[in-house]
Amino acid sequence: MMDGHEVFVVDNYFTGRKRNIEQWLGHENFEMLHQDIVNPLYLEVDQIYHLASPASPPHYMYNPVKTIKTNTVGTINMLGLAKRTKARILIASTSEVYGDPEVHPQPETYWGHVNPIGPRACYDEGKRVAETLAYAYAKQSNVSVRVARIFNTYGPRMHANDGRVVSNFVIQALEDKPLTIYGSGDQTRSFQYVSDLVNGLVLLMNSNYSLPVNIGNPDEHSIITFANIINDMVGGGSSIEHLPAVEDDPQRRRPDISLAKRVLDWEPTVPLKKGLAKTVDYFRKELQRTKHSDRNLPEIHEYSSL
Ligand code: UDP
Ligand code: UDP
Repeated sequence: MMDGHEVFVVDNYFTGRKRNIEQWLGHENFEMLHQDIVNPLYLEVDQIYHLASPASPPHYMYNPVKTIKTNTVGTINMLGLAKRTKARILIASTSEVYGDPEVHPQPETYWGHVNPIGPRACYDEGKRVAETLAYAYAKQSNVSVRVARIFNTYGPRMHANDGRVVSNFVIQALEDKPLTIYGSGDQTRSFQYVSDLVNGLVLLMNSNYSLPVNIGNPDEHSIITFANIINDMVGGGSSIEHLPAVEDDPQRRRPDISLAKRVLDWEPTVPLKKGLAKTVDYFRKELQRTKHSDRNLPEIHEYSSL
């Protein structure tokens, strides 16, 4: 919008919040549609960022059928919209297409190791078939597709009840509650700050590269290390509580981003501690917020400081 594009945002608010876009209400280039892409959608557009689907394990496990519908029927509708309007479409895929990977780090050429009937299957297989649909529409109907395989991402405006590890640990640390580690904590993840992801998605959309591209930060840590980093940053008062391991939890995850570097000239630039400091600051304010507090206006420097 700040580059002059007109933007429609379509959300059914299954996991999204009006508060996250309220600063744009009334902007001349912005229009909000309260709609679900599982139903057909008729608009005139040039580019589609198809980002719909719950993505946090507790959210997609809460309604696995809805998750599958969004990634199959919803993706068909978005590809149908792209086909009719001749718009380019970017599909938000995921590192979960690699499942619990036997190859480390994960390059785009790895086909993955996914349990088709496990608790993560609605999301993993949903995203895998979304990729399949994208290339089927590209081949059969000449739709211009881009596929981003997004690795773990965090930052301000995550939902406090998102249930993923960053928001859980930050809120637990801020409230002096024990940090909940599922299993041993030796499993690893690699965390990317949200502004790096957004830059990568826009570069991919406007590039000439049509096969899947990993977008993530290769800075890998064990979950236990991660708990300690957050605890120290917030003040260090919390203890660690080990809970039972979750089923089919991927044990190691780190993107190989050499393709993104080569074809997009992209790599993440926000270091973990800097991104975490912004995230802690956000959640600290959220926890102090009362029900009818002021609109969620960004600070002027927010767009230029990272
Ligand atoms: N669709 C949509 N918006 C459009 C065009 C299509 O939501 O602007 C939906 C439409 O409901 C259809 C789906 O996208 O079910 C797939 O479109 P496609 O053209 O591939 O399917 P067809 O209409 O040939 O069944
Ligand atoms: N995790 C944890 N405690 C939490 C939430 C998550 O130990 O309160 C672990 C989880 O088991 C996984 C990792 O942190 O190994 C990342 O989980 P998350 O749900 O954030 O995302 P995933 O990468 O599994 O989709």
